[in-house]
Amino acid sequence: MIPIAKPLLGKEEIDAVTEVLSSGMIAQGPKVEEFELAFSEYTGCEYAAAVNSGTAALHIALLAHGIGKGDEVITSPFSFIATANSILYTGAKPVFADIESDTYNIDPDRIQEKITPKTRAIMPVHLYGHPAGMKAIMEIADDNNLIVIEDACQSHGAECLGKKVGSFGTGAFSFYPTKNMTTSEGGMLTTDDKEIAEKAKMIRAHGSKVRYLHEMLGFNLRMTDIAAAIGLVQLGKLDGFTSARQKNAEILSAGLKEVNGIVPPITKTDCTHVFHQYTVRAEKRDQLASFLKEKEIGTGIHYPIPIHKQPVYRELEYRDSLPVSEKAAQEVLSIPVHPSLSRTDLQEIVEATKEFYVKN
Ligand SMILES: *Cc1c(COP(=O)(O)O)cnc(C)c1O
Repeated sequence: MIPIAKPLLGKEEIDAVTEVLSSGMIAQGPKVEEFELAFSEYTGCEYAAAVNSGTAALHIALLAHGIGKGDEVITSPFSFIATANSILYTGAKPVFADIESDTYNIDPDRIQEKITPKTRAIMPVHLYGHPAGMKAIMEIADDNNLIVIEDACQSHGAECLGKKVGSFGTGAFSFYPTKNMTTSEGGMLTTDDKEIAEKAKMIRAHGSKVRYLHEMLGFNLRMTDIAAAIGLVQLGKLDGFTSARQKNAEILSAGLKEVNGIVPPITKTDCTHVFHQYTVRAEKRDQLASFLKEKEIGTGIHYPIPIHKQPVYRELEYRDSLPVSEKAAQEVLSIPVHPSLSRTDLQEIVEATKEFYVKN
């Protein structure tokens, strides 16, 4: 079976974890600080705060900006549910703006019409590793005095206008095992704002800077030194992982571009794509997925139900019609692109896809 995702962990990660375990200091400690410094440098941000998931990074980003009850945050309905849920956790309301049909990212032209006096922030998602339209989004944010929180959970190292994602506004990254780099579970908030960084670090630790002095309501959302030790090694390998993903994507696109029934992913000219997923628009999507499964090729649907259509959101009286997202949910299929694929794997994927459309 060719899996849809596979974390690449080696001896360096094992050694790094062993070192932390042997030290006996296994909670948040010096490795977390080292990882934060390395990650902030990597993204070109002044500060970073490590947490225990991407969801926590999004949640804390909103809280650190003071977003809560009575506020609205405009985001994409075509994402993993954590994006919108992080807004709900704060008591604020997620407001969905439809996506672009080519990048699957929030459509800047649809954002403006969703702005109300209650809007406090825009939360674009850099879906599949392709940056959202940050030029237009930052302009809208500036014109309307809105905060920007980037869901960069799928786009470590991706660039837009020569700047890394997560450095435009406040960034949130995930290090879940299927992501472009991992710490097992883990996340990171990035920012150039000292106050936001300090607040984020307090919120992750029960609202305290000084032990047993709690200045605000917080949570326990800390990262461990065990996770940070893995993260430090993975961060050193990230650019290598990314170029392998990009090369794999190139091979897949070269093989699939002539296939009738498939629309391969695009990369906009002012962007780099880090291919967290290689996602095509496919005719007879579900049949293709079953056919590939029979050929021992794993695929994924990211995502089969847009967030506003999820039962939990229906219950909250969401009745939006967001046709571009709803159509994408019926048609997208992610096929393997991860760094451990061999040439033969990639050829098999291309040949099997071609075979399907010849037969169907
Ligand atoms: C993975 C992911 C998250 C959540 O990250 P976790 O580490 O799983 O909490 C949020 N948003 C997007 C777009 C993601 O892909």
